[in-house]
Amino acid sequence: MAVPGTYRFRLVTYIIVLQVFLAGVLVLSYGASSQLVLREAENNVGRLAEQLAGQIRTESVDLAERARMVRDSARFQEYLFIAVSLGTDATALREQFQRQFGWLQIDRAAVLSGAGRPLVGGEYGDLREALVERNLPQGSKESLIYLNDDFGIEMVATVPMRYRSQHLGVAALTKRLGTSWMETVRKSTGGELLFVRDGKVVSSTLSAGAAPAAFIPVNDRLELDQSSYLVRRVPVNTGAGVDQLWFALSQEQITLRLVEQRNIILGLAVIGAVAILLVGLLLLRNFSAPVGRLVSLMQAVAEGHFPVIPATVRRDEIGYLTERFSEMVASLRDKQAEIDRIHGQLAQQATTDALTGCYNRRYLYDLFPKLWSEALRSNKDLSVLIVDLDHFKQVNDRYGHLAGDEVLRQFSQILMGCCRVSDFVFRLGGEEFLILTSVDVEGAKVLAEKIRVAVAAEPLHTAEQDIPVTVSIGVAQAQVGEGREGLSIVLGRADRALYDAKQRGRNRVLVHHEAQRQRA
Ligand code: GH3
Ligand code: MG
Ligand code: MG
Repeated sequence: MAVPGTYRFRLVTYIIVLQVFLAGVLVLSYGASSQLVLREAENNVGRLAEQLAGQIRTESVDLAERARMVRDSARFQEYLFIAVSLGTDATALREQFQRQFGWLQIDRAAVLSGAGRPLVGGEYGDLREALVERNLPQGSKESLIYLNDDFGIEMVATVPMRYRSQHLGVAALTKRLGTSWMETVRKSTGGELLFVRDGKVVSSTLSAGAAPAAFIPVNDRLELDQSSYLVRRVPVNTGAGVDQLWFALSQEQITLRLVEQRNIILGLAVIGAVAILLVGLLLLRNFSAPVGRLVSLMQAVAEGHFPVIPATVRRDEIGYLTERFSEMVASLRDKQAEIDRIHGQLAQQATTDALTGCYNRRYLYDLFPKLWSEALRSNKDLSVLIVDLDHFKQVNDRYGHLAGDEVLRQFSQILMGCCRVSDFVFRLGGEEFLILTSVDVEGAKVLAEKIRVAVAAEPLHTAEQDIPVTVSIGVAQAQVGEGREGLSIVLGRADRALYDAKQRGRNRVLVHHEAQRQRA
C-alpha cells in the first residue's frame, strides 16, 4: 500500500517556497541597494562637508585664543606703545614678538598700527591689504576672517591692540589649511577637496590632469572627463562670496560601496539559503525519516508481520511514539504466537483421534481426494488397507473397557511401526483402522501381511495381563477412472475383502480381486 508522502512533500514545498522568497528578496535588495547606496552617499557627502566645516571652525577658535594671548600681554603692549607713539623703527618690537610668541603654532603674524603701518610681518603685503581693506587696524572688535589662496584656506584671527585704553592698532595671526591638511582629509574621507574662486578651481586634491578649469556642478553633481562626482559646499565663510571650498565624492567610491553592499546582501542570502536547507534537512532527518520508518512498520503490522523494532534513544514525541508502538507490536506478536499455538492444537485435535493419535475419519475425507488426484497426476498407485481386530468385543467383555482401550493404543502403535513415513494411518471407529499407502495392491498385501504377523506374534500387555489378539485385513487398490467417488468405491471393495477374511476364519489378509475370484 502506497502512503501519500504528504508531510515530506509539504516540507520540501515549504523549503522551496522559502528559497524562492529569499531569491525574490535578493533581487529586490539588489535593485534597492543602488538607490540606498546613492542616497547614503548623498547624505554622506553632506555630512562630511559639515564635519570639515566643523574642523575648520575648531581650528579658528584655537587661533583666536592665541591672538588673545598677544592682545593681553602687558609687556608686548608696552613695546607696541613705544613703537606707535614714538614712530620709531619697529625692530625691537619684532624681536620682542619673536621672543614672546615665536613658539606659537601659527603660519603668519602681522601687527599694524591704527594708521595701517606694518610693524610686525611687514613682508606679508597680501595680509596687510586684506586687513586694511576690512578697516581692521582701526576696529575695536575681535574678528575672524578667512582668506584663501592657491594652497587652500587661511584663517585670520584679529585682535585690537590697546595700551592704557589707548587704541594702538591690530594684531593678526593666521593658520593655513594647507596641502597636508587637505591630504589628510582626502585619506580619512576618501573624498576630494576643491578650492573654487570665481567659478574656477584654483586648488584641489585632484591630480593635476583631473582638475577641471571651470567648476559647474549640476544638481550637486560634477562631471569630469574620467569620472563623475557628488559635490557639496563646505559651509565656511571664506570671506568674499566668490571663494568657496567644495567637498567631492567620486562615483567610483560610491560604486565600490555599492559592490560592497551587494556582496553583503549576496553573502547574507547564501547564508540564509544554506540555513534554510540545513533546517529542512534536519527536519527531514529528525522527523520525516522516523515517521516514514514508523509508517512502513505500521504497514508491516497491517500485513501480519510483527517486526522487532530497534530501541530508540530519542527523548521526544517520536521516541515516545516509537516506544509505545514497539510495545504494541511486541504484545501483538505474543498474542499471535499464542493464537498460532492454539490454532495448531485445534488443527491437531480436528484431524486426529484422541485415544490412539491416529488420523480420524474426517481427515481421511479431506486427504483422500488430494492424494488420489496427486497419484493420478504422477501416475502412481494408491491402495487401501482396512484393519479390524478379531473378536474385540470379547476383549472388552473379558478384560474390561479400559484394557480394551489400552489394547487399541498398543495396536495402533504396531500399525504405525509397520508403516512408512509416507503412509497414513486412520482410526475409522471402534477397533477398525484404515491405511493409505502409495503402492500397488501387491505392495499393500505385503504390508498387510507384515501387520498381521506382527500383531499375532505376541500378546499385547496391560498392567494385569497379556492379551493375545489377531487382525483381519481387507486390501484394495484404487482404480483409474473411479473419479470423485474413488474413496467410497475403494473402501467398499476393501470392506468386502475384510468381510470375506472374517468369514474365512479371521487372522488373515484378503485382497479384493482375489477374494472375488475365489468367490466366483
Ligand atoms: P469381529 O471379529 O467380527 O470383528 O468381532 P468383533 O467383536 O471385533 O466386532 P464387533 O463389531 O461385534 O464389536 C466391536 C466392539 O468394539 C464393540 C465395542 O464394544 C468395542 N468398541 C468399540 N469402540 C471401542 C472403544 O473405543 N474402546 C473399547 N474398549 N471398545 C470399543
Ligand atoms: Mg472386530
Ligand atoms: Mg469391527
